[in-house]
Amino acid sequence: VQDLKVSELALSPRRGGPKNLPIAEAFVDEDDSEENRALRDKPRLVVLGTGWGSVALLKHLNPGDYNVTVISPSNHFLFTPMLPSATVGTLELRSLVEPVRAVVRRVRGHFLKAMAEDVCFSEKLIEVSAIGANGEKQHFYVPYDKLVLGVGSVTNPHGVKGLEYCHTLKDISDARLIRNAVIRNCETACLPTTTDEERRRLLSFVVCGGGPTGVEFAAELYDMLNEDLPKYYPKLLRNEISVHVLQSRSHILNTYDEALSQYAESRFAHDSVDVLTNSRVKEIQQDKILFTQKDDQGKVVTKEIPMGFCLWSTGVSQTDFSKRLAAKLDGQNNKHALETDTHLRLVGAPLGDVYAIGDCATVQNNVSDHIVSFLRTLAWERGKDPEKMHISYADWRSVAKRVKQRFPQASDHLRRLDKLFSQYDKDKSGTLDFGELRELLMQIDSKLTSLPATAQRAHQQGQYLGRKFNKIAQAAPGMQLNQMDYGDLDEVAYKPFNYKHLGSLAYVGNAAIFDIGGVGFSGGLLAVYLWRSVYFAQGVSFRTRCLLAMDWSKRALFGRDLMNF
Ligand code: FAD
Repeated sequence: VQDLKVSELALSPRRGGPKNLPIAEAFVDEDDSEENRALRDKPRLVVLGTGWGSVALLKHLNPGDYNVTVISPSNHFLFTPMLPSATVGTLELRSLVEPVRAVVRRVRGHFLKAMAEDVCFSEKLIEVSAIGANGEKQHFYVPYDKLVLGVGSVTNPHGVKGLEYCHTLKDISDARLIRNAVIRNCETACLPTTTDEERRRLLSFVVCGGGPTGVEFAAELYDMLNEDLPKYYPKLLRNEISVHVLQSRSHILNTYDEALSQYAESRFAHDSVDVLTNSRVKEIQQDKILFTQKDDQGKVVTKEIPMGFCLWSTGVSQTDFSKRLAAKLDGQNNKHALETDTHLRLVGAPLGDVYAIGDCATVQNNVSDHIVSFLRTLAWERGKDPEKMHISYADWRSVAKRVKQRFPQASDHLRRLDKLFSQYDKDKSGTLDFGELRELLMQIDSKLTSLPATAQRAHQQGQYLGRKFNKIAQAAPGMQLNQMDYGDLDEVAYKPFNYKHLGSLAYVGNAAIFDIGGVGFSGGLLAVYLWRSVYFAQGVSFRTRCLLAMDWSKRALFGRDLMNF
């Protein structure tokens, strides 16, 4: 058990928690500095995960205010937006990752390459597992005063059979496996023993999911097959190679502006990437994909595509760890993510102890309740029964104004309701009754309960928590938060979280599309350079920026590296 001693955390003689496991606690040497000793007495802040949310938090946290421990199975931060480029060798895998220990060191924290398994909220203990020196999985507890869950998500299986024949694209190791599989297929296709039919199947690449990841992967793959394959594999004929994108909705990139999604479709049509919309995957077999598609008469027909490679990229769902926590907390009703309040505190956990950010979390939406209560107030002001009141567009506008003043975070909600209200009541002279309005609110709720699962949101939430924790530390100088009776310190110390959507971009094969502030634009090479510059500027460090620049230059001079190891 002593082998688990990591950094300055060591297993104390104490055992505890519901499983009576050993407890890992901060360990200070006899001859340690005064500063280190002081740090040990600070509130214990434990951060789970080293993705976008957690790293943004760590980067914004003032060093020395908390005794920080970061626990994650990955000791690197991955710049996911560029991951599709690494699957075909446009970029090298190591150019997209940054060692996380440097970020942890800045806040004088400890890092454990381990996995959180469960949390005992009443005793403030996280059950952690790690592979010990003897190669076996060992379990222990890590205590916390404040805990941040930034454990991300997993690919959504949608209950489809045969996913073991597919690749997913979430982590750097997935990109390596994909790169090897694509090259392996090309090599096998060139063997004299491979029949024509087998060759066509091996070179049939299918992407299930027409969201940004699926589309960007298909675009990168197409570029590689078109630009580098003829050079390395002259024997393979272009008409034997096919790329298919299966999308269950009527358009690919359906969260983008409609014109942009059409641009992407026309770009793919021009590049002979086969986009199959309204197509739902039924089953995946080792050598083919079965899917249903609606024909022109609306009849559902089952079709199949032979395939040599399949990427499953159909949205995200909760990790087992998040599911385990949701199951034991009151008020967690969302199947897709852990619910938090607008201060990002985990619903159902003791107030101010546990926060959740990024893909694993969703902000609980009670804006509709506020709207309804403002409407009730309006009815009472007029001496009317709210349930029987008819609400005109002018009434709605005055309520919207009041809600917005009180809850700035509701503006997105209000904008959507306004749009729906005016569609419902086109000449703006009619009225809606309470029931109809509730119906509209429900429609909006189902759209707004989850903010997008993007790096942008995770980053903003991490940044928000980092700044808030700094404020909280200042509000309680020298005091241990776990011993302090501070009431709702979050509410007092900092404003609620408000997501600002800065825009979306996507690479669509020697072209890029931008959806910024509701204004969409797209284009060829210039847009691609702009797309690259945006990500280059966002690069994690000077090191990764240099590596990215070197990869792009290498590819321009020598083409992609099509070797598998
Ligand atoms: P993640 O970044 O997924 O990090 C989760 C962390 O938790 C990881 O370090 C993981 O190892 C760790 N972890 C998991 N389980 C445990 C556990 N039990 N205990 C401890 N640690 C755990 N978003 C955009 O905004 N723009 C894009 O262009 C874009 N492109 C993308 C392309 C691809 C290929 C992918 C996969 C995603 C893309 N995204 C993009 C989405 C974006 O990457 C995610 O929304 C973002 O990574 C979420 O950040 P996060 O911090 O919540 O989780």
